[in-house]
Amino acid sequence: MKLHYEVAELRTKHPFTISTGSRETHPVVWVRLYDSDGLEGWGEANPVAYYGETPETVCAALESFRRILEPSGDPFAILEIEAACEADVGGNASARAAVSAALYDLMGKQLNVPVYRLLGLDPSQAARTSFTIGIDDPEVIRQRVREAAEYPILKIKVGTRHDEEVLTVVREEAPEKIIRVDANTAWTAKQALARIEKLSVFDLEFVEQPLPAGDIEGLRFVRERSPLPIIADESCITSKDIPRLAGVVDGINIKLAKCGGLSEALRMIHTARAHNMSVMIGCMLESSLGVAAAAQLAPLSDYADLDGAALLAEDPFSGFDISHGWLHLTGEPGLGVSKR
Ligand SMILES: [Mg+2]
Repeated sequence: MKLHYEVAELRTKHPFTISTGSRETHPVVWVRLYDSDGLEGWGEANPVAYYGETPETVCAALESFRRILEPSGDPFAILEIEAACEADVGGNASARAAVSAALYDLMGKQLNVPVYRLLGLDPSQAARTSFTIGIDDPEVIRQRVREAAEYPILKIKVGTRHDEEVLTVVREEAPEKIIRVDANTAWTAKQALARIEKLSVFDLEFVEQPLPAGDIEGLRFVRERSPLPIIADESCITSKDIPRLAGVVDGINIKLAKCGGLSEALRMIHTARAHNMSVMIGCMLESSLGVAAAAQLAPLSDYADLDGAALLAEDPFSGFDISHGWLHLTGEPGLGVSKR
């Protein structure tokens, strides 16, 4: 297989703020793997500084993977290739996730089937996705909720002193919608309990990552007392994190850019299920190329948060759409997306 990669920049429709920072542009790295018949497998790396990655570290990791990928002509050796890439650099999850997606895309194209069929999954069984609204002034939030009219589920970023004001506005505009909140590590355990108690009057579905990633005992303390279910995101990177989160949180949020690819995401799903935990499939700010890879696994999840491309001013890829929260994959081979 021949490896090619390029850095690109995604731009969001609006500046996007969460409790740990704000940004308008988002660099990604597109990976292509060519087989000897000229078929192309595509994948997107979505480096997140919080997890120690930048476009530069992604490119350095990919350059290192060249000597693993190029001598191999067989994308179906995927588990071996993924393990070799992990052993090669450690970490660098989004770089490895791009390679993983490109390998699955190429396998699907070689067999002329969508990746979800390779995995034995039916995309019509996927959960509807939420639409995410970042931290902003309440009147801006009101506008965002109106713009998200077609979405039945909203994910509201919280973690400021204005959370109640924000949720009051959201409920005024969307009295019937399912609303989940994400604090992105903003609170201590004591703060979280007080905040969740106050926010629970807004009829919320669950709270994502109320505490710093490493505060596992804090999460247990909060979950035992919280009126709302707790989902771990930053505390749960790979399947190895799941056993110690059993009994500590109600569920986990899986993202390819955290765990390193579709095979590890599948391991996470099975590990979580073995521990009776619920499963959410999420994404970063990604184009449809990145989101389509995660969407292949959505039929195995309870909750989907796959609106990354819907937050963009322009999506460089076509073939994956969302309407009224339903995920639509084209049925084309591989990931089913192509560059516009
Ligand atoms: Mg989150």
